[in-house]
Amino acid sequence: MKIIVDEKKGTFTIVPMTEAEETKISAVLSVLTPDQVLDYQGRSRDPENTKYVQAHFHIGGAKKKVRETKGNITFIGSKMEGGIELTLQGTSDDDKNEVGGIRDVCFFGAAGLIFIESTEVDGKKSMVVTAKKCKHCGANMISLSSCEWSTCSACAEKCEHVYVEGMVHGGGLDIGVGLFCEKCGRGKPKEPGEREKTVIEQHLDAEKKLGVHVVYKDGPPVNPEQAVQFNRMARGYAKSKARSAAKA
Ligand SMILES: [Zn+2]
Ligand SMILES: [Zn+2]
Repeated sequence: MKIIVDEKKGTFTIVPMTEAEETKISAVLSVLTPDQVLDYQGRSRDPENTKYVQAHFHIGGAKKKVRETKGNITFIGSKMEGGIELTLQGTSDDDKNEVGGIRDVCFFGAAGLIFIESTEVDGKKSMVVTAKKCKHCGANMISLSSCEWSTCSACAEKCEHVYVEGMVHGGGLDIGVGLFCEKCGRGKPKEPGEREKTVIEQHLDAEKKLGVHVVYKDGPPVNPEQAVQFNRMARGYAKSKARSAAKA
């Protein structure tokens, strides 16, 4: 399948590339109605290139509770009955990459994909979907940060941010404390001239304010407190060396 991404419209267009895919997409399109959800059902390795994934979806049908007893253990779960399964698999490496992106958005920020409309690409019946609708304006969204907070970028720009302090991650930082808006989820931009906290300061803050313990597995230093101590010792040593050099 070819995946066409339209950031502006907030849509993915899924174009079948093989005959089997064409049959599948046509079957799926024949049951879908606008705004219907394609439930995300998990991923598996792409058989053509295990660096990538396939993403699985289920359309229609009903969820049924199932109970199964093996020995003295009873498994309770649910199973879909009826409906159609759809597996997204990219054709080119770019498409495979996009399928990975779709999977991440569905897993972290949405429950699945939302059907918008059918279209035709290169004479093939294709499917236009989005991941989520903005809770403020209803715009289609496909980016992870927008979907995670159900707020599109345009609404985030208009948001009268209410910044709260809490756990932040990403951009090379594993865990730290920072300010982000509790309404749109976007981080507070740095003030001009504001100094960036060091990683050790971020870790100390996380321990103090979030009550977590940060442990460095490949230490010493084994934790941020010890790292501060080491830095102090190193500075003290450099100073005393400078003093004795001045005396000589
Ligand atoms: Zn919006
Ligand atoms: Zn905001």
